[in-house]
Amino acid sequence: MRILVAGMNHETHTFLPNITPLSQFSTAYNGDVIKLSRGVNTSMGGFIDVLEESGAEVLPVLMSYGGVSGTVAESAYSFLKEEILSGIERHAGQFDGVLLALHGAMVSESVQSTETDLVHAVRAQIGPGVPLMVALDLHGNLDPAILDTGCGLFGYHESPHTDAADTGRRAARTMLRVLNRGLVPYASMTKPGLVIPSVFSATGISPARDIMDRVRYWMTQPGVIDVSFFFGFAWSDVRQLGASAVAVATDQNLAQRITADLSQLAWSLRKPLTEGHEIYSVAEGVSLAIRRAGQSSKPVILLDHSDRLNDTTFVLHELIRQGAQKACHPLLCDPEAALLCQKAGAGSTVRLSVGSKSSAVAGGPVEVGARVLWVGEKTYVGTGPMTHGKEIDLGLTAVVQAEGVWLQITSEMHSLIDTDPITEFGANPNDFAIIVTKSKTHFRAVYEEVGQEIIIVDAPAYSPVDLSAFTYVNAPRSLYPFTIT
Ligand SMILES: [Zn+2]
Repeated sequence: MRILVAGMNHETHTFLPNITPLSQFSTAYNGDVIKLSRGVNTSMGGFIDVLEESGAEVLPVLMSYGGVSGTVAESAYSFLKEEILSGIERHAGQFDGVLLALHGAMVSESVQSTETDLVHAVRAQIGPGVPLMVALDLHGNLDPAILDTGCGLFGYHESPHTDAADTGRRAARTMLRVLNRGLVPYASMTKPGLVIPSVFSATGISPARDIMDRVRYWMTQPGVIDVSFFFGFAWSDVRQLGASAVAVATDQNLAQRITADLSQLAWSLRKPLTEGHEIYSVAEGVSLAIRRAGQSSKPVILLDHSDRLNDTTFVLHELIRQGAQKACHPLLCDPEAALLCQKAGAGSTVRLSVGSKSSAVAGGPVEVGARVLWVGEKTYVGTGPMTHGKEIDLGLTAVVQAEGVWLQITSEMHSLIDTDPITEFGANPNDFAIIVTKSKTHFRAVYEEVGQEIIIVDAPAYSPVDLSAFTYVNAPRSLYPFTIT
């Protein structure tokens, strides 16, 4: 048995100022797809795992990752699409099924759901009889038209995405059951009409946990092949914006019943799913963190969930203004400031105007005197539950002491989701009273344990909970919470 595998992955924030070029995508071809994915926590890693274990032959085409940023250049999407289609063409007649590893929220300049467009193109090329399974991120904004292709959809169940490889395994196992045992899957999708900020999609915490508990319940029922709930990606102005429930079952009616049930549950939780609770302004949150840090033995985690470009300065300004001590602010992206530190050298004192280089709404640079503790190019292999085995490149990086803040300035964009960015520089999370992260949910796999508590602040700029900050043109106004603003 031979299975063709391919994929592309980008989470597109359509309100960000810059277009994402092809050069931002890191793309592996042919045998390198297997080499770079084997044993790694990605959907593709899960495909490879199950297929190799079953003795199936894997025909890899390409796998491309673009991260999280602004709308994808049309030329970049067209290129990736054509590369995938021409790879399928090269293997024409040689494969029994196709597995795709996609995101679900990748938007190009002219295609609002690149995944739907790609899956339709793949189906047109492979013909109606070849099974097609697609693994997706839990934050996909799914277009129901993707199911017109007869594909099966499989979404992550966890945010933090510790189960990306498991999701690939679920899709690959279903593929094997279809091919080996004649299983006939039917898929259904229902959209509850909700736009959910990512910070409320943490699946370990209610209300997201309640939805995933119901997903797991349905997974155990007879006739059910797979169930997913996609929380969607709120900062994307697309027709298909919003959450989706998806079921794959041996019976169409059963699949529809499941997605209707999940959709109804999500709708009943619409207020906590879109508003959360205990969200502070930056000034209040920093002040609370300083007070609480004085009473606890573990660091307080300050979550600035709204940043998307890892360079907004609202929290850093406030930490310095309020005189926070033993504060740790990792992964502030500012290549210019890192270069300035490199020129000055470790041990020297520099005057920095740091952060907020991405746009005029990023909070403004922080002017501060700082001592350079470490500076140099930095790469390492991740050890956290989401990053293990992945090579992480921070680029030219400086660690400085800026008043009471241990500030790490990088040249590449990353969010703090595990302890590596701290421990790789000889520090320990427990050295600090306050640790800032700009992750949305992924940091929880590690920092719920490392931290005493998590204080969420809603800064302005790129992804605030308050969606009225943006003008949506393509997304339906009937979606909740738009209907109440
Ligand atoms: Zn995600």
